Amino acid sequence: MPGPEARIEIHPPASVIALMDRLWAHGHAAYVVGGSVRDAILGRPAEDWDLATDARPDRLLAVFPGAVYENRFGTVAVREGGEGHEVTTFRTDHDYADFRRPHRVEFGDDVVLDLARRDFTVNAIAWGAPAPVPSADPAVESRPAPVLVDPFDGVADVHDRRLRAVGEPAARFWEDALRMVRAVRLAAVLEFQIDPPTYAAIRDNAALAGHVSAERITSELEKLLFAAHPSLGLRLMSDAGLLDVLLPELAAERGIAQNKIEGEDLWDHTLRTLDAVPADRPVVRLAALLHDVGKPTTVDDGPFRGHETAGAEIARRLLERLRFPKLATERVVHLVRSHMFAYEPEWGAAGIRRFIQRTRIDSIDDLFTLREADNVGSGLPADADLLGDLRARVAAELASSVVLDRSRLAVHGDDLIAELGLPAGPHLGGILDDLLERVIADPTLNDRATLLLLAESMLTEDR
Ligand code: ATP
Ligand code: MG
Repeated sequence: MPGPEARIEIHPPASVIALMDRLWAHGHAAYVVGGSVRDAILGRPAEDWDLATDARPDRLLAVFPGAVYENRFGTVAVREGGEGHEVTTFRTDHDYADFRRPHRVEFGDDVVLDLARRDFTVNAIAWGAPAPVPSADPAVESRPAPVLVDPFDGVADVHDRRLRAVGEPAARFWEDALRMVRAVRLAAVLEFQIDPPTYAAIRDNAALAGHVSAERITSELEKLLFAAHPSLGLRLMSDAGLLDVLLPELAAERGIAQNKIEGEDLWDHTLRTLDAVPADRPVVRLAALLHDVGKPTTVDDGPFRGHETAGAEIARRLLERLRFPKLATERVVHLVRSHMFAYEPEWGAAGIRRFIQRTRIDSIDDLFTLREADNVGSGLPADADLLGDLRARVAAELASSVVLDRSRLAVHGDDLIAELGLPAGPHLGGILDDLLERVIADPTLNDRATLLLLAESMLTEDR
């Protein structure tokens, strides 16, 4: 009786088929493997179509002129039809010595062995064919008919939306502890359940995740941030004990009482806030995850007084430890520090301009998005706190192109040096900042002669 796979059709893009044809034509096996096959079966748009073959890397470089050998694991990057693809030689992994990554990798000739080293059954499905048997008659096309190769019943698990380790779960997590983090990330992104024995092995071995490099962890966390509901993965991390190992600052939010939503604690609020940020705003999502991370350390201060300042420092250390990119780190820290702004409709135009300056123009939209999510996470409408009013006034102020940074001042450092004989240095910067303050309060002052006069009066004040 045909299994469910008999009905499954995989349609890789033409560039991928072209690469497979070329491998077959050169007498090699060619398969697509991993996440793209899984996603195709699910009907999700697949992104990177990874190929696997028995051809060794040096052969690949000969078969695909212009290809680049990427690393010692036998991956070769090939461009075809304007797209980059990774072609990896079948491998078998041995001797996982340190919970981090394969110690020794051997090239293989067998797609099934290559699938056996993969993490979850849904990621251990291949679609393709071995090397075709050459025909004596050159007119006979030797293009093989691709089939699904599914030695671990991954197709059934895709249909049941189940993540199950290939082989004995604990043994696979001892080999490479990152797989536990991949499990929660994939469960959230795909909205799959983790099979109970696999989940139990994560719970039992969560401490091993502490051995994995920050870069590998962060790459999974970044992917988690793009899930429709990242809270699914973070709750799993929390319940399985991974949060205590990897993000103890956030684990400390559990059990901290908040009088926002009945029966929910600070951790629940954080997760609601996180899910309320649109999926295409990863920086704001990261800020939402960390926005109240200062609360556990400020419970007794008033309560939570200054948690945004304390939280900004905790967030910075956490993001640096995990080696998040610098620019994202700066933005997130700034958002955490700024998230407690309290708008009053009495603010005058200068108050709005000061708010813009404090928040910095390129973070304003992020800060509004964060506040909307924070409101939702507190059981309020997104636009509570007159947020819509503040937004409109900020937009109007920005549209009227008022001076908000030094570069738009009518005088620059050079002018002060030339006209007032000031030396370059921090003192000069201080005067420019003071001038900016004055112009923010009263934009009509932004005129060269007026500002030079003002600068001069500041100099005499200083003396
Ligand atoms: P995504 O769709 O998010 O890219 P993916 O499953 O393709 O998910 P990748 O990191 O691109 O994830 O990995 C590609 C494939 O390599 C996986 O499908 C899996 O077969 C295998 N793989 C990746 N990481 C591991 C690991 N740590 N241990 C075993 N196999 C792995
Ligand atoms: Mg992938």
